[in-house]
Amino acid sequence: MNVPANDIMRSPWLWDKEPFQIADNMYYVGNKDVSCHLFDTGEGLLLLDASYPQASYQLLESVRALGFDPHDIKWILHSHGHIDHFGCTRMLTEKFGCKTYFPELDLPLLDEKRELNWHEEFGIPYEPPYDLYFKPDVLMKPGDVLTFGNTTVECYAAGGHTPGTMCLRFLLPGGLVAAMHGGVGVNTLSSAYSKKRGIGRVWRDTFIRDVNNLVGLKVDIVLGNHPDQSGTFKKQAGMTADCNPFIDPAEWDRLMTTLQKRWQRLEEEDPIQG
Ligand SMILES: [Zn+2]
Repeated sequence: MNVPANDIMRSPWLWDKEPFQIADNMYYVGNKDVSCHLFDTGEGLLLLDASYPQASYQLLESVRALGFDPHDIKWILHSHGHIDHFGCTRMLTEKFGCKTYFPELDLPLLDEKRELNWHEEFGIPYEPPYDLYFKPDVLMKPGDVLTFGNTTVECYAAGGHTPGTMCLRFLLPGGLVAAMHGGVGVNTLSSAYSKKRGIGRVWRDTFIRDVNNLVGLKVDIVLGNHPDQSGTFKKQAGMTADCNPFIDPAEWDRLMTTLQKRWQRLEEEDPIQG
């Protein structure tokens, strides 16, 4: 569901969503518009993405509803540098002392290139060093392997949606592998956006290069960074004692094929001159 900016500012409770377990130590704690995933690592809670600032209490209540204590959120990973994925981060770090991980190439989006973090498009005030700005503790790069208790995270380049968008692959303690392509939306790859922000072709070229490199990755569970990108709630509705629709080892490559086609259509219908 895409919520118009005015409604996001006015009525975040309209897009509340009950949290639920996806598989193993992995939970959905996001809202109806933006995904947040929580991992119980045995040594603290790991949060993947931190949604809009207006969703902060919804996020905290989701963590509590699962029986966890938000004070145990030790680490926050970010898929990319858009404000709908880091909007609660400053509040969480100030309240709970979380350690933050952010894609190195998206660091300028927090400060000197903040016009690229979509706060204007979402109608959210943002003026560092106040409001929502935070200084990441760790800058993530492709090739990094991070360990959080019982969960290991591998970082891959998935740029284009923003320069530093990451694919994050989670090796869960029970043996399942989950992964998120952190930016499947092509809203920043249009010729209009490229022209407005003076980007040229580089983001669009990066997008297809990195998608092509991600084909064939072994993934049991595809995570969407917005629930409608991966049918999150439809899968949840189909869960039974014997069947978990989130587990689908063929889905990752279907997604990569979809992204290749989406890119090809852009090239044909909305070209950017080099
Ligand atoms: Zn984004």
